[in-house]
Amino acid sequence: MKYAPRRHHRNHFHLRLIAAVFLLVIAGAIAALSIYYVNDRPGVRIGPTTYRRGTSYDGISSRSSNVFDRGVHYVIEYPVAGVSAIDSTVASYIDQLRGSMAAPADGPYLGGDTGEFNASYLVRSANRDYISIVAQVNITYPMDVGVHDAAYWTFDRHTGQVISLEQLFGDRAADGVARTVLYIRQALGEQAAKRHERVDDAYLERVVTADTIRDFLVRDRSTIEFDFGQGTVAPESAGPVTVALSIDRLQLFLQNDQARRLLEVTNVTTVRSTSSEVTTECSRIKCIALTFDDGPGAETGRLLDILKAKRAHASFFVIGGGVRRNAALVKREATEGHTVGNHTLTHPSLTLVTDSVLRSEIATTNSLISQVTGVRPHFVRPPNGAVNAHVAGLFGEEGMAGVLWSIDTRDWADHNSDVIYNRVIAGARPGAIVVLHDIQPTSVDAVPRIIDKLQAQGYRFVSLDEMLGNVPAGKIYSSL
Ligand code: ZN
Repeated sequence: MKYAPRRHHRNHFHLRLIAAVFLLVIAGAIAALSIYYVNDRPGVRIGPTTYRRGTSYDGISSRSSNVFDRGVHYVIEYPVAGVSAIDSTVASYIDQLRGSMAAPADGPYLGGDTGEFNASYLVRSANRDYISIVAQVNITYPMDVGVHDAAYWTFDRHTGQVISLEQLFGDRAADGVARTVLYIRQALGEQAAKRHERVDDAYLERVVTADTIRDFLVRDRSTIEFDFGQGTVAPESAGPVTVALSIDRLQLFLQNDQARRLLEVTNVTTVRSTSSEVTTECSRIKCIALTFDDGPGAETGRLLDILKAKRAHASFFVIGGGVRRNAALVKREATEGHTVGNHTLTHPSLTLVTDSVLRSEIATTNSLISQVTGVRPHFVRPPNGAVNAHVAGLFGEEGMAGVLWSIDTRDWADHNSDVIYNRVIAGARPGAIVVLHDIQPTSVDAVPRIIDKLQAQGYRFVSLDEMLGNVPAGKIYSSL
């Protein structure tokens, strides 16, 4: 009643006009499609119909191709990142799979639908320096399970070159890749446990190696990701598998400009021997610092005997619970000239706990240690090496300096004295900090040989108090 009748009428007229145009478009499309399919005779290849359109990814558009060839429907979306090396790397991966599909069809095409080839991509993350792309392919045949395939890369957006995991770690590539391999195996083991499956260590060691994780994705500024195809690192029934790793435990290996362009790297400081921060004689002589985590335990007494006999000092990052149980060993560590540091009360990854939990993990352990030794610790080793800028800031407020390491023996993974010995000798440099665990018999077994070999090379084994001295709180150190 409120609407004017004339206007009402005009609206109807417009609707009819729109409907007519719409029907014409539909009819045209049907006509075009019928020509398209009529043309699809055996052996006749129809030129790809390509078009470009924008994507939601900044600066990246798509080139699409929709082709019916010998009974196979190819629907492909290629990325156009505007850097030819990037575009061609992704395209050649897709085209190679497409080629492998076309090959068996060389015989006479007898008509009918033989399958569908779908390829597309997604951008996991990007900024002006890099782009992480996943390409995904599904091939489906009638009456068949089909083929799923995927590949991923992180590209340098300026050069178009793939940034390998090794390149991400720069001059710490060997250690960084080895750590990443171990973390991925751990994550896969945990994922299997959640599926109530048991996974064989030997299996994980075979399928996850430095060779199988050459490429990586940047998921966000603090997470890298690895995608594995169905049946490659887990049973087929588990489907495709994704492992996301926080960079918190990899900070040490990311101290380079390449990594900083991609990720929010927490700076790990190296004290310059020329700096006034160093008041110790390690600025003049060859020092090396052995550090032992997770004790005190059953092997600690034997280790202290070895160190005493060889006139070597070391550092012990003790766990609060161990201090309660083995106070006498901690007292002995301090009395015999070693540094006793804080390795928290219950060994959580400090990047995963609340601020108040972090503070009490540190403060409670500090008071347990100072009750036994009479000295309040200055150094903290974050469990699992997990740090970020926020954690470092809290260390500062608690008056602590964080200490990681420059020589990673990975003795918790390889319980083998020869391997541990070799890693220390290979990595030995003046000012190096070595991480070991005095709860592992194989680690303690390696110590006499390590000391003998390096003392013969002129090294002095010093505590962290001797090597780093009174460095500022709130910083993270990995070597002198
Ligand atoms: Zn530990």
